[in-house]
Amino acid sequence: MTGWPRLPSPDFDIDPDSGPRSILFNDGYASPAGAAAETETVFLDGIGAPSAWRDRPTFAIGETGFGLGLNFLMTWALWRRTAMPDACLHYVSVEGYPLDQHSLTRALQLYRDIPGLASLIDEICDRFPLRHAGFHRLSLDGGRVQLTLLFGPVEHSLSQLSGKMDAWYLDGFAPARNPDMWTAPVFRAIACRTKPGGRFATYTAAGHVRRGLEDVGFSVEKHPGFAHKRERLTGTLATPPDDEKAQTPWFSLPPTPADPGEVAIIGGGIAAQCCWHALKARGIEATLFDRAGPAGGMGANPVAMIAPKLPVNASLPGRLNALTFLKALAFYDGLGPTVWYDPRGAMQAAAEGVDSDDRQARLIDALDWPKDLITVTEVAGRSALSYPASGCLDPQAVRNVIGAPVESADINALIPIDGGWRLMDGDCGEVWSGRRVIVAAGGWTGRLLQAPWLEIRPSRGQVSWIKGDALPAGIPEQGIGFGGYLSPNITLRDGRRGRVLGSSFDAWPDPDGDTGWQVWSHDDHQRYAAEFAQVFSQAFDLSPPPAEAGWTGLRAMTGDRLPIAGPMPDAEAYGSDYGDLHHGRHWVDYPPARYRDGLYVLSGLGARGYQFSPLMAELLADMLAGMPLPLEKDLIEAVHPARFLIREMKRAGTP
Ligand SMILES: Cc1cc2nc3c(=O)[nH]c(=O)nc-3n(C[C@H](O)[C@H](O)[C@H](O)COP(=O)(O)OP(=O)(O)OC[C@H]3O[C@@H](n4cnc5c(N)ncnc54)[C@H](O)[C@@H]3O)c2cc1C
Repeated sequence: MTGWPRLPSPDFDIDPDSGPRSILFNDGYASPAGAAAETETVFLDGIGAPSAWRDRPTFAIGETGFGLGLNFLMTWALWRRTAMPDACLHYVSVEGYPLDQHSLTRALQLYRDIPGLASLIDEICDRFPLRHAGFHRLSLDGGRVQLTLLFGPVEHSLSQLSGKMDAWYLDGFAPARNPDMWTAPVFRAIACRTKPGGRFATYTAAGHVRRGLEDVGFSVEKHPGFAHKRERLTGTLATPPDDEKAQTPWFSLPPTPADPGEVAIIGGGIAAQCCWHALKARGIEATLFDRAGPAGGMGANPVAMIAPKLPVNASLPGRLNALTFLKALAFYDGLGPTVWYDPRGAMQAAAEGVDSDDRQARLIDALDWPKDLITVTEVAGRSALSYPASGCLDPQAVRNVIGAPVESADINALIPIDGGWRLMDGDCGEVWSGRRVIVAAGGWTGRLLQAPWLEIRPSRGQVSWIKGDALPAGIPEQGIGFGGYLSPNITLRDGRRGRVLGSSFDAWPDPDGDTGWQVWSHDDHQRYAAEFAQVFSQAFDLSPPPAEAGWTGLRAMTGDRLPIAGPMPDAEAYGSDYGDLHHGRHWVDYPPARYRDGLYVLSGLGARGYQFSPLMAELLADMLAGMPLPLEKDLIEAVHPARFLIREMKRAGTP
């Protein structure tokens, strides 16, 4: 794919008589006869809300045509009043012609008087995503409402959606004006993503819409229409269609049991904490086990910088980097200001021979993001990318705010039992048994799962603590990437003030057998301090700064630099089911994937664990909760644990 695809504009306007409208479709966004009354009558009553969701811990609604988001806002307001306190609403909405944040804000001011909507309008306007093709997941109302916006053409967007809805609102512009929204393939995609007995509601009663919905298994009823419309439709999925056959059956996802039960998470680092947080928002209890106890994870390293790796083209890794970066900003902002160091902002100086000024300019142009997200600046005489809304995190503060309790246990075996798993600690025997386990054990994950094919390569890294006044004045105060990185001036918990300089990368294949990775090395410090001095000496009189202290840690690297997140494949079953993939049989001939029931992985986060974890954890939590997934299918496959097995089988047969 070249560039970052731009979405068409709806040509938004506010007509003084009829209200917000799209000039492109020559149609209004809401009924001039009363937007709130229309949503209540056509959509909320149409799907049987609120009784449809009473006593339900989760409820999923899909929508074609997000428009101004009025249906969403009215549904959210009713959900707040009527759903169980811990229940979670998932709302998925497709929009091919999204408004920009400014136009949406302008339009929604007209509806602030609708009871219960004003604060919700503020929240959605504040958080509305960039007009970027793809899925955008917004966690609203403290996680009680998960909104997934699918920006792009309707048929393609639905084909990328994993998950089944309890109900659908069909609310595209009128069928005569926007026929693409009302086609047989769209109806089929909707039916395939509806639970048996799930409902739909729409304002139209056009003949081909009614027939199209009946053809894919809905039983359809006509009702008197709203305002000037004669009739409208509602319906129930009476005869679910056969599921769409996956073109990549080896990545098809396992079914979700009705009650996921309590979950064990092995690990206490950022991946495990984000999983705990995401599961909690979905009403699922989880327990963390870390051999290092509550001090697990990146250990004492006091800084985690968030700076994405964005290519000029919207490649799979590029899209994943962009989405995880935007999600990380929203997630950590949601934890409150204490998790970020001052001053905010992160810069990435151009690496010699790799990042030309021209590449940076093309990236800015291709992304078309606002200046508070990315802009070009200069560091030490080199051009640099600046991310003003990003910065450096305090990992200890992140941990404190998330507040996941961590139990000390060195898990040395996972034993399958009937309907679940037993976790064994070498000293204490069984420490937990239950149905679901997430292994988020960083560089130790592959060993613990006895799965060398996962291709997780532990890599030792270290950083140094340098006195702030060891550096000349004029070096920017924000976090700076230059190959290594330099943090802002920070105060440690013991009161010392200075900057963190790093870092080293060294393959460390056997971290349990050779524990030398824990020993801080002066030679390593000399190397990255010299690199730092060399980069900055172009603009400053500088010699390599001495280290006052330092920290070491392990990263879990993967060959393709992408995280690993998803269900754990049954490698033997993969061997027998897909071992002949290199002969190139047609995909329809292969069975769906087989997994180690109830076992999930989150690892391979490399040097960007704090960026990747929030979105990857949501992906896993939604898989466990049986909810619509926050990523497009091709991205889910890009991070799927089985990708290593499949690559090997396509290349050479059974690994
Ligand atoms: C020097 C250095 C600097 C870094 N800087 C940054 C940065 O600026 N920004 C950024 O985003 N990332 C940075 N990273 C990378 C980041 O630290 C990792 O990506 C992140 O910590 C991975 O989180 P995790 O939870 O997957 O794994 P970890 O943090 O490694 O946590 C895994 C946990 O699992 C536990 N465990 C393992 N095996 C078992 C077992 N059998 N039983 C019980 N517990 C077990 C371990 O004790 C460990 O606590 C840096 C890494 C290093 C080394």
